[in-house]
Amino acid sequence: MRGDSWEIYSTLRVRPPLILRADGRGFHKALDGSKKPYDEHFARSMASASRSFMEDSGLSPKLAFLFSDEVNLLFLDLPFNGRLEKLDSIAASYLSSALSLNRGRILAMDCRALPLCSGEIGEYLSQCQDEAWRNHVFSYGFYALVEEGRSHGEAMGLLRGMKESQIHEMLFERGLNLAHNPAWQRRGVLIYREEGSLVEEWAPPLFRSMEGVTLLGRLIP
Ligand SMILES: [Mg+2]
Repeated sequence: MRGDSWEIYSTLRVRPPLILRADGRGFHKALDGSKKPYDEHFARSMASASRSFMEDSGLSPKLAFLFSDEVNLLFLDLPFNGRLEKLDSIAASYLSSALSLNRGRILAMDCRALPLCSGEIGEYLSQCQDEAWRNHVFSYGFYALVEEGRSHGEAMGLLRGMKESQIHEMLFERGLNLAHNPAWQRRGVLIYREEGSLVEEWAPPLFRSMEGVTLLGRLIP
């Protein structure tokens, strides 16, 4: 018999509300052949894996917010009595498997748990959206410079010294207005459960806007 006493982490428990954040491991390399800076097929695969998790994993997050290579799952109640190892490992393995099947190659995601107070959920999601926006500006800037013949290192170096408004201006001079890019690239993708079915929103409101606050207020009582 194996001694359970060695499983010293198995009784670590967390309380809801909880965010499980799954993040791609080395996806930049794994997605070498995909469209830059954004690949809609990949974004669709991420959404489909998240949907499948929400529908079929037996865990029931209230919503998923996705951008770049990460998925944020919000739980208002927790299975497994909140056992952290169970939650983290099942979320990471389920999403990785669903994504791998979808992409036809092995992809791995890690997962971490973020316990929040109810009042912090909106702020957390807004911060995710801020990051999605920063990523958006930076990636377009980066690939614009690379397309002009700069090396990855040079492009990085140039962008590091620039303010967000300067990157905008640089892209604008090249005929690109970031505000016209698809909403999912700028604001992420939101999938939520309402009245028993899943809604997939590729143009979610800003979580800080009136519309966003109202939507979250409806979903999170
Ligand atoms: Mg990431």
